Amino acid sequence: MAVFDLDMIQKVYAAFPERVAAARKVVGRPLTLTEKILYAHLWDGNATVTHERGKSYVDFAPDRVTMQDATAQMALLQFMQAGKKKVAVPSTVHCDHLIQAKVGADADLQRSLNENNEVFNFLSSISNKYGIGFWKPGAGIIHQVMLENYAFPGGMMVGTDSHTVNGGGLGMIAIGVGGADAVDVMAGMPWELKFPKLIGVKLTGRLNGWTSAKDVILKVADILTVKGGTGAVVEYFGDGALSLSATGKGTICNMGAEIGATTSTFGYDDSMRRYLNATGRAEIVAEADRIAEHLTGDKEVYADPEKYFDQVIEIDLDTLEPHINGPFTPDRGTPVSKMKETALENGWPMKIEWGLIGSCTNSSYEDMSRAASIVEQAVKHGITPKAEFGINPGSEQVRYTIERDGIIATFEKMGTKVFTNACGPCIGQWDREGADKQEKNTIVHSFNRNFSKRADGNPNTHAFVTSPEMVAALAISGDLGFNPLTDTLTTDKGEQVKLLPPHGDELPKKGFDVDDPGYQAPAEDGSGVQVIVKPDSTRLQLLESFPAWDGQNILGAKLLIKAKGKCTTDHISMAGPWLRYRGHLDNISNNMLIGAENAFNGKANEVVNQLTGSVGEVPAVQRAYKAAGIPSIVVGDHNYGEGSSREHAAMEPRHLGVRAVIVKSFARIHETNLKKQGMLGLTFANEADYEKILEDDTFNFIDLVDFAPGKQLTLEIVHADGSKENIKLNHTYNDQQIDWFRAGSALNLIKLQDQN
Ligand code: SF4
Repeated sequence: MAVFDLDMIQKVYAAFPERVAAARKVVGRPLTLTEKILYAHLWDGNATVTHERGKSYVDFAPDRVTMQDATAQMALLQFMQAGKKKVAVPSTVHCDHLIQAKVGADADLQRSLNENNEVFNFLSSISNKYGIGFWKPGAGIIHQVMLENYAFPGGMMVGTDSHTVNGGGLGMIAIGVGGADAVDVMAGMPWELKFPKLIGVKLTGRLNGWTSAKDVILKVADILTVKGGTGAVVEYFGDGALSLSATGKGTICNMGAEIGATTSTFGYDDSMRRYLNATGRAEIVAEADRIAEHLTGDKEVYADPEKYFDQVIEIDLDTLEPHINGPFTPDRGTPVSKMKETALENGWPMKIEWGLIGSCTNSSYEDMSRAASIVEQAVKHGITPKAEFGINPGSEQVRYTIERDGIIATFEKMGTKVFTNACGPCIGQWDREGADKQEKNTIVHSFNRNFSKRADGNPNTHAFVTSPEMVAALAISGDLGFNPLTDTLTTDKGEQVKLLPPHGDELPKKGFDVDDPGYQAPAEDGSGVQVIVKPDSTRLQLLESFPAWDGQNILGAKLLIKAKGKCTTDHISMAGPWLRYRGHLDNISNNMLIGAENAFNGKANEVVNQLTGSVGEVPAVQRAYKAAGIPSIVVGDHNYGEGSSREHAAMEPRHLGVRAVIVKSFARIHETNLKKQGMLGLTFANEADYEKILEDDTFNFIDLVDFAPGKQLTLEIVHADGSKENIKLNHTYNDQQIDWFRAGSALNLIKLQDQN
């Protein structure tokens, strides 16, 4: 079943050589693969200037958009506001995050359908209407499905999930973004990114024995730490890179998110050809082969990488040891040979309770077959595993094929629970028995993240990340200190045996197979399709356009809250139980700023209602201002809105009637999100003026009528004693962004422009 868009890929490839040539000319030197792909996707066509790494903000034209079920809700509700008939680029929705893992695949899937059906029906109908491919619950995990069906060498993709970066396994630049950014791309607008820095990772040698692709990224995470990749693309190259499978490359790129990297990628090679062919995409191979020289970095770059990358790391696969990273952070790397002493030194629980295999990071056929080769040995030797064992396959195609090839049967011989093809335990959607007792315990998994509470909600679960084959060995031994390279296991008869290194097939010998992949193609003409949202739903709410600016100064505004210190998007729009309301703007707005510290009393979610003098919760007080028709402002400290690109943090204040956010400094993505929602995001020209804002002041924007690029605004502060003072506010709005403000939001403006 071909679901990819060959026309689009042909167009990208047709323009690629000329665009790379233009880039090489302006940059004036050989290019890395990352630079080739980025310059080939400039919004304005051929490069005319060199973009400075880590500095220039550049408009791009991504080829695809991908969304998972949790983040797609608000993204698509917003997309409806743009008034478009169809998405501007091929896009897909994947139902994977909302499925809990408890009993096993069928029962868990049914339970999720019962609980989330209205969300799935909404996503199915809106996808059908706007030309979006829809992958049903149980079809698989977004990034595995993406790799199997859509990723292509040299492509550029954005996705509303941080592990979108998995697509680098097939030579893409694939980047995780917030819903608002995905909406821009689907609505046909340019997408802005700070031109990244470049980290080169040279791989030499060849994987052998127990070492797998996972160990490459576990080692890189250990070297670079969780922040080391920030603002950078990691480009892998060298003979060692050529020796890895495409899905192994996907694993490595996937966990680039754990080092904060913008994304990671590999040059087009034989492993990608093999994978594309095996997954029914021979046409893409034919197209890519025609421009293959452009789908990898220039030879000169890889011959002298220090000259072309901002940082270079070299890893020798011949000597790389298997790693186990954790607990509580994916960058705490310990070679398996050192785990026993490290764990004992740190008092980590040695007994392993669970081993989990799968997630978008490690659920390829190769992963499953290598892990199964370990399980097979244990079964053959008559070893009862000491820990429980679970797998969640990455896609129905992988699940169906490993079932056909007897791999699931092998796992089941050890009593393994096979969960739905979905995120399950990886996103805390694991209803683990006894987790509520919060006992200290150890689990090992082949996922990517292992922060506290991530898998089962228990802060005392010590989660360790490793390769699937190592998970299998550790779960069988039940001992965190077990080193399968040197240690023996005791069989049920009391004999000592040593496990042989894992082996497996990169790709299924009989090819992939699937009965029902779980895909729903969109209607050719979706104009008659109704988007399904129940009027009394608590989880979904169709959006109303935000009102346009009335062209007047904002006068008589009250202070909602002056936030002190760190105010991240989590403080502005908390996650946890609120995620349930992601598709319902009014309901989720009840979490607005409830995590922010009020500068006047040091407390969270407690502010004075200036109309009544009473104390109330932030959302309730703001609703009172809105009901009374009183504008309000929010004041904040440095780096306001850092954290995620969650658009709810900008939509909630807009929805509840806050008119301006004035801070010492913004996190840029949040500042842009405020602008997109038609809000005023302003900074104190003089940071010390933050102190002038008193709790019971009234605020007048006295020259907003002259709002123009590069021109400061004046805020008149009227203190309770009647005294007044003016302060200056800076802004970074350009002409177009001021038009967004006038229209009420960026999407309003698109709709207006389309109508004219
Ligand atoms: Fe995210 Fe885990 Fe799902 Fe991957 S499997 S998309 S990391 S929640």
